[in-house]
Amino acid sequence: MSLRHILFGLMSTTLLLCSGCSDNNSATMVSPGSIAEPERRFEWKMVTAWPKNFPGLGTSANDLAARIETMSGGRISIKVYGAGELVAPFEVFDTVSRGTAEMGHSISYYWKGKSEAAQLLATIPFGLTAPEKNAWLYFGGGLELWRELYAPFGLIPFPAGNTGVQMAGWFNREINSVADLKGLKIRMPGLGGEVLARAGATTITLPGGELFTALQSGTIDATEWIGPANDLAFGLHNAARYYYYPGWQEPGPTPELIINQAAWESLPPDLQAIVETATKATSLEMLANFTARNPQALKTLVEEHGVELRALPDDVLEELRRFTAEVMQELTERDPMAARIYQSISEFREQSANWQAISAKAYLQTRDQ
Ligand code: CA
Repeated sequence: MSLRHILFGLMSTTLLLCSGCSDNNSATMVSPGSIAEPERRFEWKMVTAWPKNFPGLGTSANDLAARIETMSGGRISIKVYGAGELVAPFEVFDTVSRGTAEMGHSISYYWKGKSEAAQLLATIPFGLTAPEKNAWLYFGGGLELWRELYAPFGLIPFPAGNTGVQMAGWFNREINSVADLKGLKIRMPGLGGEVLARAGATTITLPGGELFTALQSGTIDATEWIGPANDLAFGLHNAARYYYYPGWQEPGPTPELIINQAAWESLPPDLQAIVETATKATSLEMLANFTARNPQALKTLVEEHGVELRALPDDVLEELRRFTAEVMQELTERDPMAARIYQSISEFREQSANWQAISAKAYLQTRDQ
C-alpha cells in the first residue's frame, strides 16, 4: 500500500468519525458541495390558486408541501398560502416566475394570458382522461413539451394531481338544445369557455372562491367547477338546481406544481428527486381521493339535497365537439407551440381510443350492465 493510499485512508476515517461531530467542526472539515451540501436547508413558499385548505385541491397542496418536508427530513420546509393570502389566485404564475415564491400549485389554463398553449397542458375539451393524461405526460412526450413551454418564464412544471372526469356544471335553467346555450352567462375557464362562447354563451373565468356568490346573486346563470365532492363542499347545490354531466370540458385535468427555475437548480439532486417523487404521489392521491369521494357526494346531492341530475343532450354535445374542433384549429394556426402540443395529444388520443375501446370501455360496459 502506497503512502498516498494510507494518507487517503486516514483522511476518510477522520471525515467519517467527524460525521458525528458538532456542526461547527464538520463545517471546517468539508467543503461546500460535498458532505455539507445535504445539510443545507431551504425555507420555501408555495402560493396556490385554491381557497386555503379547500378539500381536494387546497388540501392536496398542503399534503404535497408536508410530504416534501417529511421526505427531506425537514431540509425543505414549505409554507403554503391559500388564494389571496400572499397573492391573488391568478397571480401564482408571475409570482413564482419572479421568484417571490419558490413554488405554486395551480392549473395551467389560468395562464392563457401568458401563453395560449398553456391551456392544453391542463386539459382539452373531449381530450384525455386521467390514465391517458398521465400516460401522455410521462411516456408520450407531454411533460417534455410542458417543460419547453414554461422554460422562457423561468419555471419548471410538474403534474401534481388529477381530478378525473369532471361534471359539466350547475345550471339554473335546463339545457334541452343548443339554443338554450345562447345568452347563458356561465363561468367556464380555458378552452371549454371558448367553445361555449361559440355556442352563444357569455363565458367568464372566476376563481373557485367566487363561484357561489356569483351564482347565487345571478351574476352568472351557470358554472362548472369540479365534481360532486368539491361542488358539495362549495355548496353549489344551494345556488343552482340542475347538475349536468358529462364534463366534456375537463375530462382529466392536471393541476400543476410550478417551481422557480433558479430555486429548483439550487436544490441538490436528492432533494430534486424528493420533490419530483412527491408530485407523483400527489397525482395518485388526488385522483384516488376524488374517485373515492365523488360517488357518495353525488348520492348526497341527489338524495338529500334534491339536486336534479341531467345529461347534456347528444346534439348539444355534438355541437360542442364541432366548436371544439374550430377552436383548436384556430388556436393551433396562431400559436406554433399549441400546434405541437395539440398534435402530440391528438396522435396519442387516437391510438389510445382504439385501445380503450377494447379495454376499459369494453370492460365497464360488460361489468356494469
Ligand atoms: Ca372545472
